[in-house]
Amino acid sequence: MDLGIQGKNALVCAASKGLGRGCAEALAEAGVNLTICARTEQDIVDTANEIRSKYKVSVESVACDITTSEGREAALKTSGPVDILINNAGGPPPGQFRDWTREDWIKAVDANMLTAIELIKSTVDEMISRKFGRIINITSAAVKSPISILGLSNGARMGLTGFCAGIARDTVRDGVTINGLLPGPFETERLLGNLKVRAEAAGVSEEEMYKTAAAENPAGRFGNSEEFGKTCAFL
Ligand code: NAP
Repeated sequence: MDLGIQGKNALVCAASKGLGRGCAEALAEAGVNLTICARTEQDIVDTANEIRSKYKVSVESVACDITTSEGREAALKTSGPVDILINNAGGPPPGQFRDWTREDWIKAVDANMLTAIELIKSTVDEMISRKFGRIINITSAAVKSPISILGLSNGARMGLTGFCAGIARDTVRDGVTINGLLPGPFETERLLGNLKVRAEAAGVSEEEMYKTAAAENPAGRFGNSEEFGKTCAFL
C-alpha cells in the first residue's frame, strides 16, 4: 500500500530496538528517510546500517540520550527539518508508589512527558509552515487502563496525552496531526524485563508468567514490533 509519505524525513526516537525500531523499519519500507537515535552507539549504528541496506533509504544515526537537552539538540541537528516525529524513550521503572521520591517523579515526567513536548515545540512550527506534519507519541495502554506498579508511567504519559490533545486542536487545520499509540503488551526487551519482575513477585517461573500473560491478552499472544511499526506508519 502506498502510504503517500515517500521522501519525507522522520526523526524516530529510541529506535535501536523494540517498538521504536519497528516504527523506523515500517517508515523506511514506506520510503521515508530516517534519523534514528538511542544511547548505545554500536546498537544504533548497527540498526541504521541494517535498515539502510534493507530499504535503500537514507538513515542517519545519533547516539544520544533523548531525555537530555544535549541529546535532543544532537538529534535535531542531524535530522534537519522533520516531517514525521516519533516520540519514544525508555519507560520509567515499575515499583510501589510509597517508595518513589520527588526525584523519581521528576525523572519520569522529564523522560516521558517533557522530552516529547520539547521535541514537538522544536518541530511543529516548521511542519505547520509546510502544511504537513505527523507526530506520534509512543505511550502506553496504561493511559487508558492504569496499572498499579507502573504509576510513574501512568502519571507522566497521561500528562503528555492531555497536553497533546489540547494542542492538536490548533495544528490539524494546517495538516499537522498529533496522535498517541498506546501499546498493550508487545514482546520486546522491556516487556520481558517487566515479566521477570512480575514472576518474582508472584513466586512463579519466568516461563510460566510468560504463558499466563500472553494468554491474558485478547489475541492469546503478545504483539510484535513489526505489527506496531506498521500501525505507526499508517498513522
Ligand atoms: P525496549 O525494547 O527496551 O527498547 C527501548 C529502545 O529505546 C532501545 O532502542 C533503547 O536503546 C532506546 N532508549 C531507551 N531510553 C532511551 C533514551 N533515554 N534515549 C534514547 N534512546 C533510548 O522498549 P520497548 O518495549 O520498545 O518500549 C518502548 C516504549 O514503549 C517505552 O517507553 C515503554 O515503556 C513503552 N511501552 C512498551 C510496551 C511493550 O509491551 N513493549 C507496552 C507499553 C508501553 P538504548 O538503551 O541503547 O538507549
